[in-house]
Amino acid sequence: MTDRITRAERMAQPTARDAVRAVAKNHGACLRSIQLRRTNTQTGDVDQVLIPCGATLADICPPCAERAKELRAAQCREGWHLDTEPIPAAPAPDEVQAMWVEHRARAQADRDHAEAAAEDTAELAELDELDELITDLDHEIRRSGLRGNADPGRPRPRRHRSTRRRQDAPDLPKRKISPHTVGRTYTAPDGKTFRPSMFITLTCPSYGKVNDDGTPADPDSYDYQRAARDALHFAALFDRFIQNLRRVLGYDVQYFATIEPQKRLAPHVHVAIRGTVSRAELRQIIAATYHQVWWPSTDTVRFDGDRLPVWHEPSGRYLDPETGELLTGWDDALDAIGPGDDPMYVARFGAKFDAQGVLAGSKDSARCIGYLTKYLTKQLGDCHHPATDAQREHEDRLAEALRHEPCSPTCANWLRYGIQPRNPRRGLVPGACKGKAHRRDHLGYAGRRVLVSRKWSGKTLADHRGDRKAWLTEMLGLPATAPTVYRWEPVLPGDDDYMPLARRLLHSVADRLAWEQALTEARRRAGDALAEEVSATGRAA
Ligand SMILES: [Zn+2]
Ligand SMILES: [Zn+2]
Repeated sequence: MTDRITRAERMAQPTARDAVRAVAKNHGACLRSIQLRRTNTQTGDVDQVLIPCGATLADICPPCAERAKELRAAQCREGWHLDTEPIPAAPAPDEVQAMWVEHRARAQADRDHAEAAAEDTAELAELDELDELITDLDHEIRRSGLRGNADPGRPRPRRHRSTRRRQDAPDLPKRKISPHTVGRTYTAPDGKTFRPSMFITLTCPSYGKVNDDGTPADPDSYDYQRAARDALHFAALFDRFIQNLRRVLGYDVQYFATIEPQKRLAPHVHVAIRGTVSRAELRQIIAATYHQVWWPSTDTVRFDGDRLPVWHEPSGRYLDPETGELLTGWDDALDAIGPGDDPMYVARFGAKFDAQGVLAGSKDSARCIGYLTKYLTKQLGDCHHPATDAQREHEDRLAEALRHEPCSPTCANWLRYGIQPRNPRRGLVPGACKGKAHRRDHLGYAGRRVLVSRKWSGKTLADHRGDRKAWLTEMLGLPATAPTVYRWEPVLPGDDDYMPLARRLLHSVADRLAWEQALTEARRRAGDALAEEVSATGRAA
């Protein structure tokens, strides 16, 4: 393989890079593969392994994004119509799980490094992403039963104030939640049994009449503040909905949900649930579901324009430049919310919803899974491209409304209202918070695009990935991965064996071609075997 690559490399002039990328894309090869050095600790053999970057956005790596989307579709399909309780199995540790541990260690090191070096808010925003990554990796490791061997790194303390208000109980019939997750079975008069599931779409309320192109009929009266706040708290609201759904139906309802923007740029959520709920019950649950945001009031703007709070190094707090007084701390501001006060905001769904029953293996089921995963390779803000001035202006006005809304307790925007954000740091500027929710491509929603309950399929994404790998291995008649002990190390620029991107790209294409060929061959063999069997049966008959 090395010879072939070297030859190919010679032929690949810099101007041919785009052509190679196009070929790679066609063959589903990762455009930004990561190079790992794999050492067999028993034999000392070293080989280079390219692993796909695993991007979920087509902007970054279209082939990986497409694979990630297919994986989500497989996950959705597998959990939707389960007729037995999923039991998550703990697989034996193997090299793949060892690799997760390796990634975890690297991510922790990156995070600690970033935290130590962080000087501005952009770098601090990256910490959130690293934290998210570490949480994901911990999940993978815990599932693989290797947590004890992994370096857990420094524990990351999270403070939860007891002052956080309890959410009021909604006005709904309440049943005890039985632990089962599988929906009811129905028996038809002819004795046939079926177990329907559901596809539900929940939307935000109206903020004003909109035209067919998603723009407001009257931009001046369109309620951009509510639109911004509902988007910011959409994930929490969805969570409340699921709690209420479980309470009303009386069992541990499982869901696979994806968040997408509507044309008016408000989020909506498509939900596949296991089991059914009547339209009447659903209407009742939606009407009774709300999320109260117990944050300090943002009614009064205290600092704006050039007059902004100033960082005071000795106290690690911000102060009012005119009076020299420290701003109210976050916890104190929360404590000051009195028993008679209203929440800063109450998020609710709109009354409009969509619900349909779906049977396992039906055409409807495939169509709905298509809806559920349709936009997963794009950021929210890239799903609808503004084509007209009116659409661009609508997007601008929403972005402007989101600019000053606090996105979280640590948001820089709290300074505008005279409150220290939680864990204040130097360099915070109200109106310039780097939190994801404020970014144009997020439209106010900073949460995960796919929300899957724990007992949906009883598997993690990594398990689903493993299933696909196992299927391929079997199809190709390859031996399964030997449980040999490997040591994995990232190969970095400057290392002797480091492959530059162009070379990795060619390797990835060569690997994909080899796979495709082997798969075609395996399919042909399977076809031949089947044909032989058929003709043998024919002869026998
Ligand atoms: Zn990739
Ligand atoms: Zn923010």
